[in-house]
Order: sequence, then structure tokens, then C-alpha cells
Amino acid sequence: MMSMAEVPLERPIETAPVGAGVIGGGFEIIPGFPPNIDKIRAVLTEIPDTAIFTYGKAIYAPRGLDRKNKPLIAHEKVHMRQQRNAVEHWWDRYLADPTFRLWQEVPAYHMQYKVAKRGLPWQFRRTYLNTLAGHLSSPMYGSLVSLDKARHLIAHGRV
Ligand SMILES: [Zn+2]
Repeated sequence: MMSMAEVPLERPIETAPVGAGVIGGGFEIIPGFPPNIDKIRAVLTEIPDTAIFTYGKAIYAPRGLDRKNKPLIAHEKVHMRQQRNAVEHWWDRYLADPTFRLWQEVPAYHMQYKVAKRGLPWQFRRTYLNTLAGHLSSPMYGSLVSLDKARHLIAHGRV
């Protein structure tokens, strides 16, 4: 899950080159909410309007999603791999267990940062990292970590 409000990049992100296997095809973008949106809202009460959700092989984007937003799609592709054939189970655990939620988001944010970084001059990387950390530490995910911890986790992909 991710909010699209996070992309204040100073240059178009589609200029970021993307490694093979990171993006790939094989998914669809659906302009609406995922089938389990009621369960999601019951737990995560501060989801912004711009949020997007991965459910199986689909990215649900109520406000739409630019396929060229490679960092964001890379983030959601990580969740697709995590969900594999156990989508419902993954989501139920994601909602019930904040620790699990954090450890599903960390690799997704790390991948998003890695993909975006390639297209960004160094002086913008810090800003982008800070913005992502702001999201990961926000009430959207249930205030799982501090801003500093989120920054570290996204940059390194681990503790
Ligand atoms: Zn996510």
C-alpha cells in the first residue's frame, strides 16, 4: 500500500532507468478500491484519498495511477510477490499484525527508494528519502516507527 502524494521529484521520475525484473508486466491497474477495502478501513483509519492498494495481480488506484511511475509500481510489485497465492491471508495478517505490516513495507519502500534514486541527482535523494520516511512513519500505517527509524529502514532495507 502506498500514497501517491509522496512524489515531489524535481525531475520526471520516468527518466529513472529500471533494472530488469523490477517492473515487468503482468499486472493491471484498476480505478477503484480493492475487494477488502472495508477490512482495511476498519484498521487503518487515516488512509489518504490518494492511496493505492495491491491485491493479487492488480493495483487498485481509486484516483488512477501513471504506469510510468516506476518507483511506485516497484513498491507495489514487492507486495505482489509477498502476497503470491495467499492474497487474503496476507492482507488479514497485514491488518492484524503491525510488526508484520512494518516488515512487509520496509522492503517495498527500500525498492521504491532504490528505483527512484537512480534517476535523481544526489541532492534530491535525501528529500525523497525524507518524504518516504514521513509516509512510512505516518498514521496511514498506524504510526509503526519514528521518522528517524523509518529513514534508516528505507535506506538500508533492514535494521
Ligand atoms: Zn506498501
